[in-house]
Amino acid sequence: MILRAILAPALAMLLCAAAPPVSFTPVSPEYAEAAGEYRALWQAEGDRIVAAMEAATGMAFPPSPVDAIVSEGRPMASFDGRTIRLRASYSNAYKKATLAHEIGHRLTFILPRTAGVDDHRLLYLFLYDVWTDLYGREFADRMVSIERRIGPAYEAAWTWALAMTREGRQARLAALRAQPTASHTGGQQPRV
Ligand SMILES: [Zn+2]
Repeated sequence: MILRAILAPALAMLLCAAAPPVSFTPVSPEYAEAAGEYRALWQAEGDRIVAAMEAATGMAFPPSPVDAIVSEGRPMASFDGRTIRLRASYSNAYKKATLAHEIGHRLTFILPRTAGVDDHRLLYLFLYDVWTDLYGREFADRMVSIERRIGPAYEAAWTWALAMTREGRQARLAALRAQPTASHTGGQQPRV
C-alpha cells in the first residue's frame, strides 16, 4: 500500500496527457451550433479532461481519434469507445459532464470486466473524482444527482462507487489494472 501511494503520483506525472483528436459532427444542420459548443469545450478543456482521467486512473489515455456525433439521440459510446453520441440540447454544464462521461468510456473498455462490475461501475470509479478535480465538488454532486435519475442501473452504480472513499475507488482501480485485460463484447449498447 505504501509503495503504491508513492508510485501513483509519480506514474500520473509520467503519463503524457495529450487529448486525442475528437471530430464533432452534427447529424443535421440544426445541430451544428451544439456541435460547435462541444467542439469548443474539447478544444478548451480536452487536455485537462484527459490529464484528470490519467491522474485518477493511472492509465494512459488512448491517443487514437474519437468520432462524436451530435444529435437529439440518447448519448452513448460504441463498443470500443471510438464513436460517441452526444445530445444537442443539454445545458453547458451538462454538456461538460456528458463529454467527460462518454470520453471516459474509452478507458472503461480497456479495463478488465469482473463479475458484478459493469461499464458504469468501472466509469464511476474515476468519473466523480475527475468531475471534482475539474469543476469542483458541487458540480460533481449535481451531475451525479442528474445521472441517478437516468435509471436504476445508473442509480445503483453511483451508490456502489460513492460508498467508497476516493482512496477506496483508486485501490479498486489499481487492482483491476493489475489483472489481465479481458476482451469486451459490448456491441452498440446505449450507455448514457
Ligand atoms: Zn455511460
